[in-house]
Amino acid sequence: MGLIPFDIGDSIEDVMEVVRRYWGFDGLRPLQQEAIRAGLDGRDSLVVMPTGGGKSLCYQVPPLLAGRTDIVVSPLISLMKDQVDGLRANGYPAAALHSALEPHERAEAERFIASGDCRLAFVSPERLVTSWFLETVEHLGIKTFAVDEAHCISHWGHDFRPEYRQLAILKERIPDASIHAYTATATERVREDICTQLALTDPAVLVGNFDRPNLIYRLIPRLDLRAQVREIVARHANQAVIVYCISRKDTESLAQSLRESGCSVAHYHAGLNSGLRHRTQEDFTNEHLDVIVATVAFGMGIDRSNVRCVIHAAMPKSVEHYQQETGRAGRDGLDAECVLLHSPADSLRWRTLLERSAAEGEGSNDALGASLALLDEMRRYCAPGACRHRSLTEHFGQRYEPPSDDSCGACDVCLGETEGLVEATKEAQMILSCVARVGQSYGMGHVADVLRGADTERIRNLGHETLSTYGLMSDRTQKQLMNLTFQLLDQRLLERSSGEYPVLLLNDTSMEVLRDERTVHLVPAKTRRVRTTAREAASWEGVDMELFESLRQLRTELASERGVPPYLIFSDASLRDMAHKKPTTRDEFLDVHGVGEKKLADLGEAFLACIEAGEPR
Ligand code: ADP
Ligand code: ZN
Repeated sequence: MGLIPFDIGDSIEDVMEVVRRYWGFDGLRPLQQEAIRAGLDGRDSLVVMPTGGGKSLCYQVPPLLAGRTDIVVSPLISLMKDQVDGLRANGYPAAALHSALEPHERAEAERFIASGDCRLAFVSPERLVTSWFLETVEHLGIKTFAVDEAHCISHWGHDFRPEYRQLAILKERIPDASIHAYTATATERVREDICTQLALTDPAVLVGNFDRPNLIYRLIPRLDLRAQVREIVARHANQAVIVYCISRKDTESLAQSLRESGCSVAHYHAGLNSGLRHRTQEDFTNEHLDVIVATVAFGMGIDRSNVRCVIHAAMPKSVEHYQQETGRAGRDGLDAECVLLHSPADSLRWRTLLERSAAEGEGSNDALGASLALLDEMRRYCAPGACRHRSLTEHFGQRYEPPSDDSCGACDVCLGETEGLVEATKEAQMILSCVARVGQSYGMGHVADVLRGADTERIRNLGHETLSTYGLMSDRTQKQLMNLTFQLLDQRLLERSSGEYPVLLLNDTSMEVLRDERTVHLVPAKTRRVRTTAREAASWEGVDMELFESLRQLRTELASERGVPPYLIFSDASLRDMAHKKPTTRDEFLDVHGVGEKKLADLGEAFLACIEAGEPR
């Protein structure tokens, strides 16, 4: 199965030779060389790279060069399956052992691993720590373990999985094993947790650059969710978009609204039956579906690299989640947009949800404290102000180096789309005095109704149309008034009682505002205009668009003929490179990004013919 002779060494030239022949890449990404070195030398390592940074290559190369079998611990079956399929398409011997295998598939995988010809064996953490598996590992003399998604071991990460904690057993059972932890979550707390829990000895800690320059970040106040999402999705017609919502109910209604506007869309959450979930994932991966509206249950293991936009319909509960979820955009390195539609109401909503699940006994008090601290960091990230690329990079403890004098050129702030804060003391005073006028006994909806001068039965019954604040802000809509009120709550200039029917209450700072002793700044509740970035335009330069579409069509045809997802054929980045270079010979074809020897042999003819003819087949 292997394409290279066994007597290959492990110098950097040897590494490059293997990377070129199997993967068709011309060079290594930052830190890949160091991470591969640690794998070859058997030195423990912790490799932190952003999503799409190229972590998998780091543990795929060493066993190939060393002619040995390594283990990869992975949290999800779909993740293992995708990787094994991708590796095999490149002629790389790999196998996965998991609970979804048929008995004969399992026997075959076990035989293959036992033969010693398998280079990478993927397993789940719970399977790895079974005594049967550990005995096999010892018997085969396997010494090198890669732990993928290693943040799952920490409750400071975004996806804590108790079964990862059992991996501590590895160093006890096999003292001379080397462990290589990989994650995209870079905070100091998570890093320390991983090193301690896995008992890493003098690890090489390799922390990559966290910035994803190809992602364009936008934070937009949420005013009319459906209209705003429709508008953003329309900017990405016929492209892959993921929309994240907090609740299952939201995914259904938002998907429905997009369907009515003519989108190819489905919703996805953990409450759907597994058959339907599986089908939806497949449809999205196979490019039969453009838009997915989902809860956070969707994403891990989705390997569609050409997601051009990730929308958050509400604020996620931590910056780690945000980074992970937006990280699913633009994995092919091409430009992609990440829009966060937020309202100050979101953090209150999360707080209630987190406290409720803690009260129901899910997780300890410590865990609740950690979740609330993470939520607070997210809330601060959403506060108006600094460059998004800078804030995110700094959140992960790194210095941000903007590509040009202090501007990232790829966020709403640097593109000059935000109006920022405006002084709004007078408006705050109107809202606060209305809270006082209604006797601090009503909720936000009613207060907003009074302020905009609504003619409702409730107002008439209560006689609130006679209040001095009635109709005081009649130039505002209900939504805008609610938004402003939420901002006051978020800045603690106003309080809200707990319980099923929370009412608005004044506090000491409200009184300071009312007495004119404190000025208030709020984000104006207006929609914004979006600009095109220079990078976005440049990334298509010299690409024959018509040819790109033909190549894409050919890819879809071949994928469905072979029953594999399109990305296993070629990535969008490869297709764009083809539509740019227009190779005519097999040698020129090898020059295309992502074309190795196996892909040349397998697909060269079909794609060269398509390039020559200018149409699929
Ligand atoms: P991660 O696991 O860090 O999220 P992946 O390992 O999935 O990232 O890699 C992301 C993408 O980058 C993949 O499409 C992969 O083929 C590509 N890639 C990785 N290393 C290189 C490289 N040295 N040159 C070009 N592309 C690469
Ligand atoms: Zn910026």
